[in-house]
Amino acid sequence: MAIPESKSRGFESIVIPPPLLLVIEDVGWWSGYSRPEMNQPFRSGMGRLHCVEDYTAIIRLAKALKTQIVAGFVLCEWDRTGLLADLPSSTWLGAQWKGCKDGIGFQDKVVSILNENPGYVNIAMHGIGHEYWVDGEASRSEFHDENGVMRDKEQVTRHISMFEKLLLMSGLNAPFPQIFIPPALKHSFGNGEQGFQKILADFGIDYVITVFDKAKQFARPMHKHVTEECGVTLIERGVAPVSWDSVSAKPEFPFTHPIVPIHWANILHPIPEQNEYVIDRWAEFLASGARLNGYIFFPDALTALSQIVFYRLTRIEAINGGVVLDISDARSVLPKQIRCEFYAELPPSARIREHDGKLAPADHIHEGLIQLLPSPHAEEIHIFF
Ligand SMILES: [Zn+2]
Repeated sequence: MAIPESKSRGFESIVIPPPLLLVIEDVGWWSGYSRPEMNQPFRSGMGRLHCVEDYTAIIRLAKALKTQIVAGFVLCEWDRTGLLADLPSSTWLGAQWKGCKDGIGFQDKVVSILNENPGYVNIAMHGIGHEYWVDGEASRSEFHDENGVMRDKEQVTRHISMFEKLLLMSGLNAPFPQIFIPPALKHSFGNGEQGFQKILADFGIDYVITVFDKAKQFARPMHKHVTEECGVTLIERGVAPVSWDSVSAKPEFPFTHPIVPIHWANILHPIPEQNEYVIDRWAEFLASGARLNGYIFFPDALTALSQIVFYRLTRIEAINGGVVLDISDARSVLPKQIRCEFYAELPPSARIREHDGKLAPADHIHEGLIQLLPSPHAEEIHIFF
């Protein structure tokens, strides 16, 4: 049995368990055909139109795991009115864009299903058209070029505003996303106020999930798996365990990382009515992998993300009769508006030093789990057994 890092530090009395967070990219396409050779975007690679069953599949998986899945949405094909003609860099048809007809008959049903199940899908921003078009010529990807150089700032802002507009028009009861997933891992960080995170922060994004080594780094990340810029927390995603265009992928990979980054086609079947067979196989694999490797599914994605930060950055030191948890690094990189809380497994006799914060049972998340709510400015938490 593999033992996650935090469990191997020699403090059997306290464990900050890693969450297991599923992140699905490229949700929202109605066409499932990738057409880069026709100057069109890399879509899901599904090889058919997407439909209602592809959304119920995500919800089925989330329900089976009692968790909220992060779905990175691409929204250009939700534009039925031709709105995007005003932003020619956002689609392959540029100013000639008249709106998309694909999947038009499914949209209302999908909207009501997602609205009826708000707890299972966290709608994240992935992009409008995934790529970026100049004079009708596509290039990767929407917000940064191949080398991680940010697109023109005014264009970036217009793309994000347009994402917001499309989301509003969609009928989805979703607020503007708090999570951004860069398309094709093209991203940059480390240049502060001049950079991309500043723009995201102004739109209210709290988290970016990506692969640090694939991004253009103006400065090294503050920590190996977590960094922060302009109030936005960047979380290392890790490598996708199966190829992005592997339809009905067989789930078979080691559990070495709190984020499982997959793509929509991985969990769908070419015949929509058979999606559930694929989903049930994934659910079983993920549930048993989490159990055997000490990962926990959290009921909401934002709590899972802050738990990743505490799991990665809390320093635990033994003292006479207990432990001290140094949470100063975790606090310093968390988005300011996120409530500072995390979860640990503690012996039943555990008590917290009075002014450090509060402990509360969190069996609704996982049996025996305890919520730690640090006091507003506490950087050290003393736990006595
Ligand atoms: Zn993508």
